Amino acid sequence: MGKTPLLEISRIEKSFGSQKILKGISLQVFAGEFLTFLGPSGCGKTTTLRIVAGFEEPDKGTVRLNGEDVTRLPPYKRDVHTVFQHYALFPHFDVFENVAFSLRLEKTPEPEVASRVRGALDLVKLGGFEKRRIDQLSGGQQQRVAVARSLVGRPSLLLLDEPLGALDLKLRRQMQLELKAIQKKTGITFVYVTHDQEEALTLSDRIAVFNAGEIVQLGDPKSIYETPRSSFVADFIGSANILEAQVKLNDGEHVVLLVEDEVELRLPRPVGFNGAEGAKVPLAIRPERISVHFEEPASDAGRLTFPGALQDVVYLGSATQMIISPFPKSAKVLAATIMGKADVSIDGARRRVWCEVSPRDVLLWPS
Ligand code: ATP
Repeated sequence: MGKTPLLEISRIEKSFGSQKILKGISLQVFAGEFLTFLGPSGCGKTTTLRIVAGFEEPDKGTVRLNGEDVTRLPPYKRDVHTVFQHYALFPHFDVFENVAFSLRLEKTPEPEVASRVRGALDLVKLGGFEKRRIDQLSGGQQQRVAVARSLVGRPSLLLLDEPLGALDLKLRRQMQLELKAIQKKTGITFVYVTHDQEEALTLSDRIAVFNAGEIVQLGDPKSIYETPRSSFVADFIGSANILEAQVKLNDGEHVVLLVEDEVELRLPRPVGFNGAEGAKVPLAIRPERISVHFEEPASDAGRLTFPGALQDVVYLGSATQMIISPFPKSAKVLAATIMGKADVSIDGARRRVWCEVSPRDVLLWPS
């Protein structure tokens, strides 16, 4: 990563009417990065992207590109291109002319137009489609044209707002891999908006997790998945069993938690956990980190074990999910995901199982 960020957003605030949509967004993006804004609908991802592109002005804060303050510059004066979910192609132009459009505006010489359009179409695997009309293309092909059109101007920063949102799942997965390959090949910096966490994990060098107008965590996919900074992030990225626990003891070395008022867990105090005795705290365990046993496992001081009743088995194709109730008095259940095919059937009404987790997979947060 270079020293000067390609894009630097500082303390951006934005309200629409009386509603504060962005509450101080700060972020640096470095040349060659693939950075994704991820968050639930309405959290301010698109508004932030539009402020970077210049379609929206912030109430407070600055946007810098290569060190230059561009906060008040119109979009066409920024070295940035945006790809929208609705591709906004020209239906009456063929593929070539759609891609060539910005070069024509700049009066680029014809031989250069031809070679740059061909190069961009090759990158998106649409070589040979130059003369096709837009309405003769599938949704996926139209999206490729939109990407080619944005690449042909060789922007240093490409902003993509849910560009695959209109595609079916299979095509979406395929295009994700292609976009990532294009980004690596061209070296163009991508800032990408999605609410699909799997897409964010697949594509990104770093992810900025948004919630309610703030960035609540920024990091590479692994650190966000492994060490979410809050139960919101744990729940939003991947899946997590979110439970409530009461701190029965916290002596600095160990904590004892009463989970959902029923199951007591004693574990080494996670780094930074400062829950005071008596406090109610959220606790999360990822489904794939729970091992399920049908016989009580031999006691192992390094592992946490608690019994439960198997309530349901859900076939997911590449994995099997077990729904377990360790809390007889409440309706709360735990999901445990077993990779591969698990030959389990529930005969009789219920089945006794034991859940086993490593203490480091019990996620707790400083209050
Ligand atoms: P999504 O994933 O649904 O696109 P998002 O995180 O991109 O969501 P934004 O599009 O940034 O969210 O919108 C954030 C909030 O700002 C929403 O409540 C939206 O209704 C509101 N909003 C966005 N643009 C405007 C506008 N021009 N006028 C009024 N409200 C707006």
